[in-house]
Amino acid sequence: MTVAGLVWAGISPLAAGEALSVEEEGEEGLPGTDTAQGDAFSGGPGDGSIKDYLYKVRNPDTAFVDDLYLNQREMQLLQTVLERLNRLRACVGDGNFSVLGFDEALGIARRQESIGVFTSEELAFVEMLHSRDARDYGFFGTKPVNSLTHRIDPADIVKVPFSGNYLFKGDSLEKYGRIRAVLGEDVILTSGIRGIVKQLYLFLNKARRHGGNLSLASRSLAPPGYSYHAVGDFDIGQKGFGVHNFTERFTSTSVYRELIERGYIDNRYWRDNMLGVRYEPWHIKL
Ligand SMILES: [Zn+2]
Repeated sequence: MTVAGLVWAGISPLAAGEALSVEEEGEEGLPGTDTAQGDAFSGGPGDGSIKDYLYKVRNPDTAFVDDLYLNQREMQLLQTVLERLNRLRACVGDGNFSVLGFDEALGIARRQESIGVFTSEELAFVEMLHSRDARDYGFFGTKPVNSLTHRIDPADIVKVPFSGNYLFKGDSLEKYGRIRAVLGEDVILTSGIRGIVKQLYLFLNKARRHGGNLSLASRSLAPPGYSYHAVGDFDIGQKGFGVHNFTERFTSTSVYRELIERGYIDNRYWRDNMLGVRYEPWHIKL
């Protein structure tokens, strides 16, 4: 039996659309928790101390006075790039959009009049975002995808049934398979592979909702190039828990408790990590 066969044997479909609706949220947290634009928090010691740092990662959606923002022209480019990416996403479908390479995206945009060619200024903006050192934002994670044109080989990936997500064959698929073998239908894959285009899309959406605040966005979404979803990490959740799977409430679920007990949880972003990222108990490190 193939790995995929082992993984899926005897598992009946999830309720249609359940995991998909969660995937829509990406890792952007609960709707309605966003702070108003420009509502910068200036409390705390303000001397760059560890207390300041921990306050930030424990309050990722709060804006701080030393956060880095896009300028006005960059905000306009963010808007047009996002509109183009929205049309691209609608054209190729959510699943394909998740694993799309940048060159592929440009090719489709060129061929599809409804999407339209990315302008040279838009491309320069995207390249700037990808090449910029994310430490400027306050994100201290490493960068597994150094090339903007990094491509995910379709031969290396598998679409996970009823999740709307892909996983890499090999370690990722086997790990998820072991988790499913323990927890069965209680556990769902909430986010799998995210290529550079999808990560860019999520990151820009988060920044747009917060007035172009790149620092705030990077506290809950790795900047394009810095996400380990591009190379094997994935997110899990409890069936029926919806958007709460992307909050600390996930730690109260039976899925989380069971996986901790059995030693399956190996998080990339632990509580109070020093990477500038919020606590993500649902994110499984490969
Ligand atoms: Zn994740």
